[in-house]
Amino acid sequence: MIELLGHQAVEERFADAMRRNHMHHAWLLHGVRGIGKFALAEKLAAMLMCETHSACGVCHGCQMLNAGSHPDLISVGLEEKKRDISIAQVREMLGFLSLSGAESENRVVILDDADRLNHQAANALLKGLEEPSPGSVLLMVCADAMKLPATVRSRCLMQHCSPLTEDDVRSVLASRLDAETIGLAVQLADGCPGSVRCLEDSSVAKALAEWQRLVEDLSQADIGKIDNWCRSNVATVPHELIIRALLQPLYPRLQQPQSSGFEAFEAVHLAVKACLRWPGEVIRQSLRAAPTLLSNVLELRAALRTST
Ligand SMILES: [Zn+2]
Repeated sequence: MIELLGHQAVEERFADAMRRNHMHHAWLLHGVRGIGKFALAEKLAAMLMCETHSACGVCHGCQMLNAGSHPDLISVGLEEKKRDISIAQVREMLGFLSLSGAESENRVVILDDADRLNHQAANALLKGLEEPSPGSVLLMVCADAMKLPATVRSRCLMQHCSPLTEDDVRSVLASRLDAETIGLAVQLADGCPGSVRCLEDSSVAKALAEWQRLVEDLSQADIGKIDNWCRSNVATVPHELIIRALLQPLYPRLQQPQSSGFEAFEAVHLAVKACLRWPGEVIRQSLRAAPTLLSNVLELRAALRTST
């Protein structure tokens, strides 16, 4: 049986649709990155292909799935070095869905990165959604459903997937990380275990732990050490996590009313926003990561010092 944490509600809805023989032909699983939406789609596909509809892992259908050789399932997604999903990919997928099942009653396609369909591809998909082939089930996965045309969304059964609870994140990570790293990983994951996969690399885990110590009391932090850390680690540690570790200690404080006046509080908020924008700006504007990170940290530190 495939164990999957955190998405029981969607699984139950899907199981219920199977029981009532009332399967929607297109499910759209959406929610933030790193929470296991693709794994959920794989489990739903397995439930359909399984002889007992339970993703049992032992029946003929499940064994073919495990071997990656089930003739009634394909996965489509963003190809390497491509910016979007093409019309050719969608046509291939719709062609596959139009055939009748070889081993099961269904034909299933998992469409990953569905928010990366280009305009033509989305139009072609729309036609397929308007006239679904009997027994075909499309499981679409994406982070930002609003990037899909409303006409596509309205023909799908939308299922929002939430970040995981801390306990579930801990369970997911337990098999992948050593005990020392798990605490840090759970804190930084923020409900998305996929976002801390890089901590499986112990040098990244060590660097992030050091970063967390350096910035935990930012207004007193040692700038020389922070500067050194940025120079040696900014190329290997994911930028989103650097910012998460930097800002997490500040959130409780940002939610409290401040005694130091509106302007000082506003300065902290602006500095926090600048930090949040930094990972994206490094990519979009090809900024040099280490010095720009340092200047954001200095800005934030200065703002914190005046606000206390
Ligand atoms: Zn089975």
